[in-house]
Amino acid sequence: MKITFLGTGTSQGIPVIGSTNPVCLSVDSKDKRLRSSILLTWQDYRFVIDCGPDFRQQMLRENVSAIDGVIFTHEHADHTAGLDDIRPFCHKTGDMPLYIPERIVTNLEQRFDYIFAKENRYRGAPSASIQVVENNPFTLGDKIVLPIEFMHGKISIFGYRIDDFAYLTDLKSISDLEKKKLQGLDILVVNALRKEPHPTHLSLDDALNLIQELQPKKAYLTHISHKLGFHAEVQKELPENVFLGYDGLMLEV
Ligand SMILES: [Zn+2]
Ligand SMILES: [Zn+2]
Repeated sequence: MKITFLGTGTSQGIPVIGSTNPVCLSVDSKDKRLRSSILLTWQDYRFVIDCGPDFRQQMLRENVSAIDGVIFTHEHADHTAGLDDIRPFCHKTGDMPLYIPERIVTNLEQRFDYIFAKENRYRGAPSASIQVVENNPFTLGDKIVLPIEFMHGKISIFGYRIDDFAYLTDLKSISDLEKKKLQGLDILVVNALRKEPHPTHLSLDDALNLIQELQPKKAYLTHISHKLGFHAEVQKELPENVFLGYDGLMLEV
């Protein structure tokens, strides 16, 4: 399976609009971060996890001509606001399968009512079929996906494990029971917002502690704020099997 980091930024992306913070003004391409999302490809399958406001730009940048579905982690706008841009894919292949955690189905149906409307549909609207995700394994193509449930502040959201790869974003705390599903990973992707603590996201130290506990072979950090610092400087401070993700980074597992 090939993993492409479509975006590795927190909710506002980097640079933040109008910001004069040095990281926002950096000319290093690794300091430019679109909203967090990944593309997973194997055989002829192509799936994305989350579909934020930069989805269109991400699909164009990576030359993606078709996808087989979108898997959502939670309802926040930085993970869902690009949903209208599945249109070109729907026009080619029909209803787009959307894998939506049960808790947020109604939320997305209300916010994107024109996509899910059964009657009086606007002709150009995207069309989708909902696959409800509960905390049970489900299949994508010929692979089994294991949802991982954890807390993002006060809301319960999902990350996903496929084979020995796991993608956890917007995590703040996770139960011991769910941690058991994360043993024996080759690659763990996990969020690390900034150095200071935050009420709904892991800080860099929090993320490093979780990595230390779960012992994946390699870990990549995502959902990064400009407050974390310059990519090149922060990377130097990390343990040897931990890397800062960056937009366009590609991994094989
Ligand atoms: Zn987020
Ligand atoms: Zn969030």
